[in-house]
Amino acid sequence: MNQNILAPRGTQDLFGKRAYRWHEIKKIIRNIMDLYGLSEIITPTFEYTELFERSVGEETDVVQKEMYTFLDKGGRSITLRPEGTAGAVRACIQNNLLQGNLPLKLFYFANCFRYEKPQAGRFRELNQFGVEVFGASGAEIEVDMISMLMRIFAEFKITRGLTLAINSIGCKVCRKSYVDALNEYFAKHKESYCSTCQTRMNKNLLRVLDCKQEKCTALNETAPKITEYLCPDCKKEFIRLQNLLQLNGIAFKIDNKLVRGLDYYNRTVFEFIARTPDGNNLAVLGGGRYDDLVQSLGGSQTPAFGFGMGLERLLMLLEEQNYEFSTPKSCDVFIVNASKGNPDAETLAWQLLADLRKQNIASELDVMQRSVKAQFKYADKINANFCIVIGEDECKTKMLTLKNMKNSEEKQMVYEEVLNYLCQQQQ
Ligand SMILES: [Zn+2]
Ligand SMILES: [Zn+2]
Repeated sequence: MNQNILAPRGTQDLFGKRAYRWHEIKKIIRNIMDLYGLSEIITPTFEYTELFERSVGEETDVVQKEMYTFLDKGGRSITLRPEGTAGAVRACIQNNLLQGNLPLKLFYFANCFRYEKPQAGRFRELNQFGVEVFGASGAEIEVDMISMLMRIFAEFKITRGLTLAINSIGCKVCRKSYVDALNEYFAKHKESYCSTCQTRMNKNLLRVLDCKQEKCTALNETAPKITEYLCPDCKKEFIRLQNLLQLNGIAFKIDNKLVRGLDYYNRTVFEFIARTPDGNNLAVLGGGRYDDLVQSLGGSQTPAFGFGMGLERLLMLLEEQNYEFSTPKSCDVFIVNASKGNPDAETLAWQLLADLRKQNIASELDVMQRSVKAQFKYADKINANFCIVIGEDECKTKMLTLKNMKNSEEKQMVYEEVLNYLCQQQQ
């Protein structure tokens, strides 16, 4: 195939079993959303670029380097959404959803686009399962949503090395004194940090704490800790969060270096980390509180909390852990036409096919002009449970031969009996 028309780097095709698994994952998650009282929101794949600049933050990596942005034919700057929160918040404000019953609890499945270096489980078109809840300012909603996530992980049997890491990054007030302290510390050690960190020190200071380079992580060990700078209100909320998690029997660890890459977070941020079979830690999910975003996008002051989880990563993790997905329903009945060209056999075969499907019995007939032998072989290959043979005799006597493909047993039955028998087999 011509290289120029292969799928672009960082994208993937899902088909067969994996496409089926994909939908099974969503179905399981949807059921849990019902249980916890969340409703779905579906927003456009693209928005005006300004929305992401104003929400995600102009100085973030996402906006600076990773967005798929273009001018449309009308000359407006459009961006394929790099994440789901901004669009969800925009939709809530625009449709007056925040004037209704609060808390408003929403979930979505959104394909997002980021120009990143592709790696295992990370794609340039990525699918996010996200949750955004509006109107509740305290730790209760956070713990309720985290317990919902525990339920999801339990449902998927993700337990190996599963760790909940939490942190508080404070509010506008206390973050100021923390940022001052950090600035002072970074100024002393600037030259010892990597070049990316040195750039971040000027633009997106907190992200320095995120750096995975060895020399930076070592330096960050002794950097000032946000939790030591929290104002009384933020401290109180952070302790309440910990108490409520304990009350619900949810284990956690405090990770002072957890800051999340996006601008809009305040107070609680969290991450779930799982261990892959080869012993690596994999962040499967992250999120936090963002109490000022609604207002900064033109809504009224509304506290909010949310998270996003990459479905590609989840699928990868489940496959690595040999999660038992259910298998797609296979063919129940294959109709073997042994009298090709005979109009009566043709009519009977199509009639039978229609009647079987009416009863929700998965049925097929030959569409490839195959010989009888080849039809049986094909039925075997698609794992059909039964074959019904239709030939000249069957047309005359109206007796059909039903062959059980698993044990090769054959039964002769009249038309109605076959239908009844197969219906019973379904139950
Ligand atoms: Zn504070
Ligand atoms: Zn660094």
